[in-house]
Amino acid sequence: MRIAVLADIHSNREALEAVLSDAAACGVDRFAILGDVVGYGPDPVWCVDKVAGLVAAGAICVKGNHDEAAAAAGPDASFNADARTAILWTAKQLSGEEKSFLATRPLRHSEDEVLYVHASAHSPADWIYMTSPGKAMPSFRVSKERLILCGHVHRPALMHCDRSGVVRDSAFPMAKPIPLARSRRWLAVIGSVGQPRDGSPMAGYAILDPATLELTFRRVPYNAAATVQKMRATGLPETLALRLVQGK
Ligand code: ZN
Repeated sequence: MRIAVLADIHSNREALEAVLSDAAACGVDRFAILGDVVGYGPDPVWCVDKVAGLVAAGAICVKGNHDEAAAAAGPDASFNADARTAILWTAKQLSGEEKSFLATRPLRHSEDEVLYVHASAHSPADWIYMTSPGKAMPSFRVSKERLILCGHVHRPALMHCDRSGVVRDSAFPMAKPIPLARSRRWLAVIGSVGQPRDGSPMAGYAILDPATLELTFRRVPYNAAATVQKMRATGLPETLALRLVQGK
């Protein structure tokens, strides 16, 4: 069994299609979506319907802050002006059924020693960014799972917690299986499918083998120019369109 782990799709159909076909070519058996299906991008309806289809077929899907804002809550104070504009536009595109799908996703899902969450494990509804060992430490403290998988940051990262509770960053290769030693616990931030912010515009995701605890970060080229064109046609903020080309 191998699971494709996708985070932060952000209404980017072209990036999601490229990742799904790469995952199919890699022979994955199942999908896990770590939230933020919508927000920023031009194809919220297509992306929510696609993810709902995956969930109907057995995929895991937890809720992100943009999902919550589009479905019901509206943008909170953490949304900057562009994110706010995009989420208000997104909420107008989605049907009641699509909003209800997003609103009813759980904040966390635990299965086979793996915890799936959008942001932090210790306080998932506060949408805390897992950007350093210090930020990740409380997530290790409150959970028992061997591996925590999260998104929200849009830059891939890997951290580990040793038996004495010390959390450190872990260097890792791209596109190679990383054996996650059982002598430690791990937290992986999966890069973003639809709005990468690590300087590479390629769509990011990862493949997990829960039996061997091997994790592979992957990057996939996609037609970002087509997404940008759609964003300009819908009048979404230009800075959000440019981010897709720059990857940051
Ligand atoms: Zn996001």
